[in-house]
Amino acid sequence: MEHLSFCLVCGGNHLAKEISCTDFVASAETFDLFRCADCGFLFTNPRPSVREIGPYYQSDRYVSHAGSKEGFSFMYKVYDVVRDYSIGRKIKLIKSFHPSGDIMDLGCGLGYFLNALHKDGSFKPVGVDVSDEAVTYVKQHFGIIVRKESELDSFEPNSFDAITQWHVLEHVHALNERMQQLKRLLKKDGTLFIAVPNSSSWDAKYYGAHWDGYDVPRHLYHFNKISFSLLMQKHGFKVVQTRALVFDAPYISMRSEVHRGSGGAFLRGAASGLVSTVNAWFSGNYSSLLFVVKNV
Ligand SMILES: [Zn+2]
Repeated sequence: MEHLSFCLVCGGNHLAKEISCTDFVASAETFDLFRCADCGFLFTNPRPSVREIGPYYQSDRYVSHAGSKEGFSFMYKVYDVVRDYSIGRKIKLIKSFHPSGDIMDLGCGLGYFLNALHKDGSFKPVGVDVSDEAVTYVKQHFGIIVRKESELDSFEPNSFDAITQWHVLEHVHALNERMQQLKRLLKKDGTLFIAVPNSSSWDAKYYGAHWDGYDVPRHLYHFNKISFSLLMQKHGFKVVQTRALVFDAPYISMRSEVHRGSGGAFLRGAASGLVSTVNAWFSGNYSSLLFVVKNV
């Protein structure tokens, strides 16, 4: 286990335990979340090191070739249907900033978004992932070559008009080093599109330790608008737009209901997702946030 004695965002060392969460998908172990009193950043601490984290990804949720997803099958079917719609919306958003150009999907996972970029044809897409399994899967399913994350430093500086990270940054151990890599790879007028769960959302508060967005210990960080913006500022970026990923609210809520042991998780989760979204119309605190980020 790796113990953080200071905040990775502001460097402060006034850290206070806020909540203990259970790993509901792999280990059933408990992990603590600490909040930095100086900047408000919330993070998993202690956390498995890079060398230790592997087994925590051995679950249906993260193993790419998982076949039947018992108990979740209906939820996953719904998820599949909305996934393509969400991908279309993301591509439309990116095109409003860059109608064409070089784009990197960093942490491309199963490659659905990467494949959609290829099919769209407007961009020159590059997929990158940390997992050998993901690289193999995307090659077999889509015939697309994915680069390993360890190759990031071999790309030329200023290579990309856009870099996307969909629910990836919260998994990255070397957070500041990753931000430096993004700074190096992005063109001066380029744009980052980064989606993360929002720990200040209504559903995070409602479900508490059962909130699926905490997903310990795989989620090392639990951003909100403030801590995310501070991290961007620190690395010479600024958030220019904050958007909703509207389907994440019901999806995360349904999974949270399952963690809580509720009956009727689908309906209850759908209801909570709706409440969370309506709440966010006023607060801006959607269940997940999609940040559009530019160089300063
Ligand atoms: Zn801090």
